Amino acid sequence: MEFATFADRVAAIDAESADLEIVAHVRDLFEDAGDDLPVVARFVQGRVFPAWDSTTLDIGPNTCYEAIARAAGTNVAADDVEERLAERGEIGDVAASYDFGGQQGLGAFTGGGGDSTGSGDDLTVREVDDTLTELAAAEGAGSQDRKVDLLFGLFNRCSSSEARYLARLVLSEMRIGVGEGTVRDAIAEAFEVPEDRVERALQVSNDYGQVAQVARDEGVSGLDGIELELGRPVQAMLAQAGTVTDALEEWDEAGVEWKYDGARIQLHHDPGGQTRVFSRNMEEVTDALPEVVEFAAETLDEPVILDGEVVAIDEDGSPLPFQEVLKRFRRKHDVAKAREDVSVRPVFFDCLHAGGEDLLEVPLTSRHERLESVLAAGPDRDQDPAEVDGLSLLWLTDDPGEIEAIDADALAAGHEGIMLKNPDSAYSPGRRGKNWRKRKPDVDTLDCVVTGAEWGEGRRATFLGTFELSVRDGDELETVGKVATGITDEKLEELTELLDPHIAAEEGQNVELEPAVVFEVGYEEIQASPTYSSGYALRFPRFVGVRYDKDPEEADTLERLRNLQ
Ligand code: ATP
Repeated sequence: MEFATFADRVAAIDAESADLEIVAHVRDLFEDAGDDLPVVARFVQGRVFPAWDSTTLDIGPNTCYEAIARAAGTNVAADDVEERLAERGEIGDVAASYDFGGQQGLGAFTGGGGDSTGSGDDLTVREVDDTLTELAAAEGAGSQDRKVDLLFGLFNRCSSSEARYLARLVLSEMRIGVGEGTVRDAIAEAFEVPEDRVERALQVSNDYGQVAQVARDEGVSGLDGIELELGRPVQAMLAQAGTVTDALEEWDEAGVEWKYDGARIQLHHDPGGQTRVFSRNMEEVTDALPEVVEFAAETLDEPVILDGEVVAIDEDGSPLPFQEVLKRFRRKHDVAKAREDVSVRPVFFDCLHAGGEDLLEVPLTSRHERLESVLAAGPDRDQDPAEVDGLSLLWLTDDPGEIEAIDADALAAGHEGIMLKNPDSAYSPGRRGKNWRKRKPDVDTLDCVVTGAEWGEGRRATFLGTFELSVRDGDELETVGKVATGITDEKLEELTELLDPHIAAEEGQNVELEPAVVFEVGYEEIQASPTYSSGYALRFPRFVGVRYDKDPEEADTLERLRNLQ
């Protein structure tokens, strides 16, 4: 296909605002694309490379301005391009405002496209693709000059309409309203295949060009035959914010996991071949994370794709804050040195492929079983899951108390809290659906007076814990719940020192406190409850902090609690 034809079709899409019409234009474009269908299916979305391929053109706007300026003629400078950009606000408009034909004395000829200010030297979609691929591969000394030269060579052969869309393509600013859904629908319409099968093939391959071609040439059976490939990242399944209450209402039981505070990774490991690690955005991060590669080599003995998190750890293996992972995550240089400062370890919570089998459509519980067996490979195959290195545990429960305890353990171990997952759900790449929920603990917070506590047990025997919370009702204090969650040992020590002077009475482990200290407490819900003297109970209360600035007289009231319910 000539690039001028592509540009004209894209201009028609650009001028259209109705979604159905846009799909119809894209469908027609696909039907007419011939051998160039895979390239056209990417270009129309403003992609030069397939979504799974993290290759970039690696050119900044200035390189593009320079190439445009050179193609526009000897008396045009990159500054002029920038000035026009400031006026017009959009690089496509700027590129289209120059007459590129004159550079090589070809300006007298006209191109074949609808907009005929071109050079007559017919640029094809294939040539643009080949040149941009060559440009992306240029590296080392002089590569920026080479990039400008290649880009200049393309602009120099462009009509104004072609230049408009070439500039937008190169700077990833296509913006013609063609998203992933449009391409999916257009493929389905053009080649008469069901949308859901196109969708599945897209999720698995992350390659719109391949899917369009297979749909056209091999139909539904071809699409269904597209499988995950080791080395090609899949879009990560994402989570919505949600509450325990909602999760337990919707599912018979909830899958509960610790939420690790690190960076998402997808591991592709082939024991006989390569190990590659990708980020949540499908960028390759293998070289930055040698610990993950070593882990895979030591632990895994079959081809797998695993989804997980990489966490920074201190010398004892305890998790460090997220910022520490960032120091390692995309690092390209001095990895060994960075590793000495901060080391990382992977924790995996999902298995998308194992032993030649794709598992995306298998329920979470079965995927997790596979994950466990994959990670427990080797001599320790029968070990306790809690002992399996790199495994994120999955608990199944319908008991809110148990979920609260898992949350407390996660926080005590220095993690972020919990994830709630639908045990029966498939793995939906790229989806932020209801099947994965990051627990949103605090619907709101209340400032409560601490009126009691309990001495801890075991290693916490010298600390006060499980604090009784009350709100004001006139001159009285009425209890609303107990908080034990969200408090580290360090903090417990500090709170014990703070409350000790206010102990009014003790009986066994129970301590009565005179009202002196105010806690800010987050909660999920307020429920009517006979358990506490206020007649209400906070569900999932979580310690947020001490309100050193507030006296008990300034704590929240029963009236506010009633209004919040
Ligand atoms: P968002 O995904 O909403 O853009 P984010 O990337 O900051 O935001 P969160 O929403 O806070 O992440 O939580 C989802 C992320 O939590 C996942 O992408 C993953 O990186 C991380 N995570 C940690 N532990 C788990 C787990 N057990 N299961 C799934 N994701 C987990």
